[in-house]
Order: sequence, then structure tokens, then C-alpha cells
Amino acid sequence: MSRPHKIANLIGVPLPMVGLVVAIVVLWDRAIGPLELALLIGLYLLTALGVTLGYHRMFTHRAFESSRAFRAIMAILGSMAVQGSVITWVADHRKHHTFTDQAGDPHSPHLAGPGFWGAVKGLWHAHVGWLFESVGTAERERFAADLLKDRVLRVIDRLFALWVGLSFAIPFAAGWLLGGGLGAALTALLWGGFVRVFLLHHVTWSINSVCHFFGRRRFNIEDESRNVFWLAPLSMGEAWHHNHHAFPTSAFHGLSPLERVADPTGLLIALLEKLGIVWNVVRVSPERQRAKALPRRA
Ligand SMILES: [Zn+2]
Ligand SMILES: [Zn+2]
Repeated sequence: MSRPHKIANLIGVPLPMVGLVVAIVVLWDRAIGPLELALLIGLYLLTALGVTLGYHRMFTHRAFESSRAFRAIMAILGSMAVQGSVITWVADHRKHHTFTDQAGDPHSPHLAGPGFWGAVKGLWHAHVGWLFESVGTAERERFAADLLKDRVLRVIDRLFALWVGLSFAIPFAAGWLLGGGLGAALTALLWGGFVRVFLLHHVTWSINSVCHFFGRRRFNIEDESRNVFWLAPLSMGEAWHHNHHAFPTSAFHGLSPLERVADPTGLLIALLEKLGIVWNVVRVSPERQRAKALPRRA
């Protein structure tokens, strides 16, 4: 990992945590208002979808197709989640699917040795540690050659710092304009910027750590991926991660009727398909699901 990359992570990971501590101190005195809450939820949903619907299901796995404008919007929203530029994120994630839970996986929790401490070290690595060791090390030419051919995506990828700046400038400006003055701008930046990024960071990282360690399996596949129902709504459906490893190109990570309800990204893709905004949506037939299902325990 390059030096500037390491420094960026050293700032980007702890700063939102500092933001949360400051937020709590502020909250002690003065409760969070409707403007801050709206910014927190609104920007969380938009940037989370940028990652789940854009970065992950569309760019990484090509689970559906869309127009150049929609692709550009999703790439920018995903960048605003401050999880890395679009092509680098995709390369890392495709490498994770190629080497899942084996040597070469950028963030498996299972490669840190045996026993209790091996598990603790592994979970730490999968959650946060990998951001200081293996993030951005997947060769982009090998794992994301298709995206490198897309000129618009290359430009958006190169302008990553701009989208990160925008991700914090938007809540600051909204606070200034709607709340009136610097005080309101700073509180809006705190909730709509730092706290929002902090929350989404940890939810996304939990897919790498928790969803490869705790939870349920129902398909006969080799890796350690798991479905974690309680993480499903906040992760926009990404916590049906075992289903996802069983059928990586499926646009829907929730496969059973109950899981589908807790897969907001999947529900949105179905709606966008009806509206004609996305097309060629990949679905996994019940027969294909049954063929891979683990035998039910008697
Ligand atoms: Zn995984
Ligand atoms: Zn994936």
C-alpha cells in the first residue's frame, strides 16, 4: 500500500469515530434536530445504495445493466461513502470472491491462525485491519479490466477526493442554508457527515467480518460466508451474504420470500426495472437454488 493511501486511511477511519464521540458530547447538551436526522438518514440511504446497488451489484457483479448516466450517478454516490474509488473497490471485492476465505482473500477472518486469539485477530483484520494492509492491492488490470475501459468511470475514479469532499460539503451547506449560520452547519456536518460515514463504514465492514463468521448457511458452498438477518435492513440487504456467495451475480441477495422483504437494494432494483431504468436483471430460479441447497436436518 502506498504512503498517501496509508495516511488517508489513518485519517479516514478514526476521524468519523472522533466525530461520533463529539456527537455524543453535543447530544448531551442539545438533542439532535429534524434537519440533522434527515441529513443522517437521507445521506446514509443514498451513499449506502451507491455501494450496494452501484459498486457491488452493478459494477462488481453485473447483476443488471443501466444507462451511462445512471452508472455515473451510482459511481459518484458510492464514492461519497468514503470506502475507496469505484474501480479499486471493485477490484478488491472481485479478488475477495476469487479467493474467498483462502490465501489471497483481502479480508477473510479465517487466515490469522487457530484458536480463540486467531479468531479475534482474524475478525479484527476482516473488519478494519485489512484497510491498513491489503486494501487497494488487487491488480486493477486483472480484476477490473472491463471498468478500466469505461472512460466516464475512469474519470469518476480519478476524482475520488472530490466526491469525498462533496460528501461532507453537502451536509455542511445544507446546515448553513436551512439551519442558519455556522453553528447549524457544523452540527449538520457532524451528523450528516461524520456520524453517517462512521455508521456505514462499520455496517459495510461487518459484511466482511461478521458475515464470514457468525450466522446461518443454507447452500452447499465451500467458503465461510453466512446470512445474518439482524444486519440485513441496515446493510440494505447485503447481510444475506451467504446467499450472495452462492449466487454472486443475482441482483437479489434475499432469496426466500422473508429474506426478500429485508433486502431493500433488491426491492429497489425490482422497482427500477419496472420503471425501465435498469434492465437484464439477473434472477436465480428456484430450481437452481434447490440444486445447491444443503440437505435439511431431520
Ligand atoms: Zn464475502
Ligand atoms: Zn460480492
